[in-house]
Amino acid sequence: MEQRSSETRWKTELAHAIRDTHALLTRLGVDPCEAWDSSHFPCLVPESYLRRMTPGDPQDPLLLQVLPTKQEDTPNPDFHIDPVGDEAARLTSGVLQKYAGRALLITTGACAVHCRYCFRQHYPYSDDLHGIEYWQPALTAISQDPSLSEVILSGGDPLVLNDRKLGQLIEHLAAIPHLKRLRIHTRLPIVLPSRITDELIHLLKQSRLQPVMVVHANHAQEIQYDCADALQKIVQSGIPTLNQAVLLRGINDNVDALTELCECCVNLGVLPYYLHQLDRVQGAAHFEVDPEYGIKLIEELRQRLPGYAVPQFVQEIPGERSKTPLPHVNSLQVGSARL
Ligand SMILES: *Cc1c(COP(=O)(O)O)cnc(C)c1O
Ligand code: SF4
Repeated sequence: MEQRSSETRWKTELAHAIRDTHALLTRLGVDPCEAWDSSHFPCLVPESYLRRMTPGDPQDPLLLQVLPTKQEDTPNPDFHIDPVGDEAARLTSGVLQKYAGRALLITTGACAVHCRYCFRQHYPYSDDLHGIEYWQPALTAISQDPSLSEVILSGGDPLVLNDRKLGQLIEHLAAIPHLKRLRIHTRLPIVLPSRITDELIHLLKQSRLQPVMVVHANHAQEIQYDCADALQKIVQSGIPTLNQAVLLRGINDNVDALTELCECCVNLGVLPYYLHQLDRVQGAAHFEVDPEYGIKLIEELRQRLPGYAVPQFVQEIPGERSKTPLPHVNSLQVGSARL
């Protein structure tokens, strides 16, 4: 019964999330006359996330992450539908393998929020409610590659799946002997914290696979109230928890905002992992920050924070064998220096 009620709660919250730009602005007391709706990637904001925005502030750093704007329609030849080469890295339906030892499983196309800068906003997801039949080809491909020790559940957001489906998937993965770790890439602890139930934690902890949680917060203002509680709950359960952020113009592209974000994370036991240079996805050009400026920000952070609180500033370059740290050292020069 208990399980039912906590699962019902987050599902109800998700079902009642705001799906209309005009409604979002009206709720916040911001002038809705500029309201704009995107047809391919509609507005989606859960109530909990909205509660952490400042009413009346059109520049609120949370609002700017989720508010559809006309700027998304401005064509830019350098911004593409598949900026990170996902299509080329497709092992089979639903699995991407770019890097040694780990494969990324697209568990579902659904998310609890629509971040306007999302690099997968044009990914050819099917709208099917994914279940074990859908993942079977992916599971087979993973089971046939003994070089893999880690599977990353991604999406969309894997925690949009209910506990039953997630549990089934984890069971099938745990039955593959060469897998050792299960990583979960999720923004739900940030945007829909009620998803972090005791049952979910139990599900992750009882598996043979070592769980690792990578969450996604871009601003300290996101990490308040129920979100802070959810993160604390994950950390206290003993699951290693990391944060990845995206460097976003007008949202976190200043040293104070980044310092506060990193401090907020480490104060809860969440280690800053990556700060991503924006992937050049169509519709997101207005969020881009000059990477040279990003490098300066990270240098400044290093002077303000303990070493473990400074994320790696990285860029995803299609075809590379890892995320590329910035500044980018020319590998040939490093090689010849060693000789
Ligand atoms: C980013 C990414 C990973 C994870 O890379 P890490 O550096 O291990 O965090 C794995 N697979 C794909 C396809 C990715 O895009
Ligand atoms: S939660 Fe992640 S996958 Fe979903 S829209 Fe936001 S950035 Fe994209």
